[in-house]
Amino acid sequence: MAEECIFCRIVAGELPADIVYQDEDFLAFRDIMPKAPTHVLIIPRTHITSVAELTDGQQKLGGRLIIIAKNLAKKEGIARKGYRLVINCGTEGGQVVPHLHLHLLGGRQMDARLG
Ligand code: AMP
Repeated sequence: MAEECIFCRIVAGELPADIVYQDEDFLAFRDIMPKAPTHVLIIPRTHITSVAELTDGQQKLGGRLIIIAKNLAKKEGIARKGYRLVINCGTEGGQVVPHLHLHLLGGRQMDARLG
Protein backbone atom coordinates (compact mmCIF):
# COMPACT_ATOMS: atom_id res chain seq x y z
CA MET A 1 0.00 0.00 0.00
CA ALA A 2 1.19 3.50 -0.85
CA GLU A 3 0.51 5.62 2.26
CA GLU A 4 -0.55 8.79 0.43
CA CYS A 5 -2.61 7.06 -2.28
CA ILE A 6 -6.35 7.68 -1.90
CA PHE A 7 -7.25 4.54 -3.83
CA CYS A 8 -4.97 2.43 -1.61
CA ARG A 9 -6.78 3.97 1.35
CA ILE A 10 -10.11 2.91 -0.16
CA VAL A 11 -8.72 -0.62 -0.63
CA ALA A 12 -7.61 -0.60 3.03
CA GLY A 13 -11.07 0.54 4.16
CA GLU A 14 -9.68 3.81 5.52
CA LEU A 15 -11.77 5.95 3.15
CA PRO A 16 -15.43 5.31 2.28
CA ALA A 17 -16.46 4.27 -1.21
CA ASP A 18 -19.61 3.04 -2.93
CA ILE A 19 -18.21 -0.38 -3.83
CA VAL A 20 -20.00 -2.22 -6.63
CA TYR A 21 -17.61 -5.16 -7.08
CA GLN A 22 -14.70 -6.75 -5.29
CA ASP A 23 -12.61 -9.87 -5.50
CA GLU A 24 -9.21 -10.97 -4.26
CA ASP A 25 -7.31 -8.72 -6.65
CA PHE A 26 -9.69 -5.94 -7.75
CA LEU A 27 -12.13 -3.39 -6.43
CA ALA A 28 -14.73 -1.33 -8.30
CA PHE A 29 -16.51 1.70 -6.86
CA ARG A 30 -18.54 4.66 -8.07
CA ASP A 31 -16.63 7.79 -9.05
CA ILE A 32 -17.12 10.55 -6.48
CA MET A 33 -17.62 13.13 -9.28
CA PRO A 34 -19.46 11.14 -11.94
CA LYS A 35 -19.12 12.30 -15.55
CA ALA A 36 -22.01 10.10 -16.69
CA PRO A 37 -25.07 8.42 -15.09
CA THR A 38 -22.91 5.32 -14.64
CA HIS A 39 -19.29 6.10 -13.73
CA VAL A 40 -17.40 3.28 -12.04
CA LEU A 41 -13.67 2.98 -11.41
CA ILE A 42 -12.05 -0.46 -11.49
CA ILE A 43 -8.70 -0.74 -9.73
CA PRO A 44 -6.21 -3.43 -8.80
CA ARG A 45 -5.87 -3.79 -5.03
CA THR A 46 -2.11 -3.62 -5.37
CA HIS A 47 -0.56 -0.19 -5.91
CA ILE A 48 0.41 0.17 -9.56
CA THR A 49 0.93 3.82 -10.43
CA SER A 50 -0.30 3.71 -14.03
CA VAL A 51 -0.45 1.68 -17.23
CA ALA A 52 3.15 2.78 -17.78
CA GLU A 53 4.17 0.64 -14.79
CA LEU A 54 2.64 -2.57 -16.09
CA THR A 55 5.10 -5.30 -16.98
CA ASP A 56 4.81 -7.92 -19.74
CA GLY A 57 4.13 -10.41 -16.95
CA GLN A 58 0.97 -8.53 -15.94
CA GLN A 59 -1.03 -9.24 -19.08
CA LYS A 60 -3.58 -11.20 -17.07
CA LEU A 61 -4.13 -8.26 -14.72
CA GLY A 62 -4.68 -5.91 -17.67
CA GLY A 63 -7.10 -8.35 -19.25
CA ARG A 64 -9.04 -8.84 -16.02
CA LEU A 65 -9.59 -5.07 -15.73
CA ILE A 66 -11.43 -5.09 -19.06
CA ILE A 67 -13.41 -8.26 -18.35
CA ILE A 68 -14.56 -6.89 -14.98
CA ALA A 69 -15.63 -3.66 -16.70
CA LYS A 70 -17.59 -5.62 -19.31
CA ASN A 71 -19.35 -7.64 -16.59
CA LEU A 72 -20.15 -4.50 -14.60
CA ALA A 73 -21.56 -2.80 -17.70
CA LYS A 74 -24.03 -5.65 -17.96
CA LYS A 75 -24.84 -5.49 -14.24
CA GLU A 76 -25.35 -1.70 -14.45
CA GLY A 77 -27.74 -2.12 -17.38
CA ILE A 78 -25.67 -0.15 -19.90
CA ALA A 79 -24.28 -3.02 -21.98
CA ARG A 80 -26.97 -3.03 -24.66
CA LYS A 81 -26.77 0.67 -25.56
CA GLY A 82 -23.00 0.88 -25.15
CA TYR A 83 -20.43 2.46 -22.91
CA ARG A 84 -16.91 3.87 -22.83
CA LEU A 85 -13.80 2.51 -21.11
CA VAL A 86 -11.01 5.01 -20.38
CA ILE A 87 -7.57 4.71 -18.82
CA ASN A 88 -5.70 7.98 -18.36
CA CYS A 89 -1.93 7.64 -18.11
CA GLY A 90 0.40 10.30 -16.76
CA THR A 91 0.07 14.08 -16.66
CA GLU A 92 -0.64 14.75 -20.33
CA GLY A 93 -2.95 11.75 -20.38
CA GLY A 94 -5.10 13.51 -17.80
CA GLN A 95 -4.36 11.10 -14.95
CA VAL A 96 -5.01 12.74 -11.58
CA VAL A 97 -4.94 9.78 -9.18
CA PRO A 98 -1.63 7.87 -9.48
CA HIS A 99 -3.11 4.39 -8.94
CA LEU A 100 -4.05 2.46 -12.08
CA HIS A 101 -7.80 2.66 -12.75
CA LEU A 102 -10.19 1.98 -15.58
CA HIS A 103 -13.19 4.29 -15.97
CA LEU A 104 -16.47 2.65 -17.00
CA LEU A 105 -18.78 5.38 -18.30
CA GLY A 106 -22.29 4.95 -19.63
CA GLY A 107 -25.93 5.90 -19.48
CA ARG A 108 -25.66 8.81 -21.92
CA GLN A 109 -24.45 9.45 -25.46
CA MET A 110 -20.67 9.91 -25.49
CA ASP A 111 -19.05 12.52 -27.70
CA ALA A 112 -17.46 10.75 -30.67
CA ARG A 113 -14.46 13.08 -30.42
CA LEU A 114 -11.88 11.99 -27.87
CA GLY A 115 -10.09 14.46 -25.66
P1 AMP B 1 -8.10 10.21 -13.43
O1 AMP B 1 -8.23 11.63 -13.92
O2 AMP B 1 -8.14 9.20 -14.56
O3 AMP B 1 -6.92 10.01 -12.52
O4 AMP B 1 -9.41 9.93 -12.60
C1 AMP B 1 -9.48 9.98 -11.22
C2 AMP B 1 -10.93 9.85 -10.84
O5 AMP B 1 -11.02 9.53 -9.48
C3 AMP B 1 -11.75 11.14 -11.05
O6 AMP B 1 -12.83 10.88 -11.95
C4 AMP B 1 -12.24 11.48 -9.65
O7 AMP B 1 -13.53 12.02 -9.63
C5 AMP B 1 -12.16 10.13 -8.95
N1 AMP B 1 -12.00 10.16 -7.50
C6 AMP B 1 -11.10 10.89 -6.79
N2 AMP B 1 -11.22 10.63 -5.48
C7 AMP B 1 -12.20 9.70 -5.36
C8 AMP B 1 -12.78 9.02 -4.25
N3 AMP B 1 -12.38 9.25 -3.00
N4 AMP B 1 -13.78 8.14 -4.49
C9 AMP B 1 -14.20 7.91 -5.76
N5 AMP B 1 -13.68 8.52 -6.85
C10 AMP B 1 -12.70 9.41 -6.65
